[in-house]
Amino acid sequence: MSQQYNGGGGSGAYSSTQTTAGEQAAAAVDATARTVHYKCGDCDMDVPLKRGEPIRCRNCGHRVLYKQRTNRYV
Ligand SMILES: [Zn+2]
Repeated sequence: MSQQYNGGGGSGAYSSTQTTAGEQAAAAVDATARTVHYKCGDCDMDVPLKRGEPIRCRNCGHRVLYKQRTNRYV
């Protein structure tokens, strides 16, 4: 399943306790300074986040967010 890193950090723009391979490419997010919409892994709420903002659900405070699929490719 998911791979967790203990310690470390400082290399990425976001520090997340859970790292999943696949579409959660942080690099793709970092490339654009626009708002990126994530989906809360807990309450499934849409969470728009700007660059530099901490990944955290504004509804329930869950810290595991999944990047939503967009209709258009950048
Ligand atoms: Zn939530």
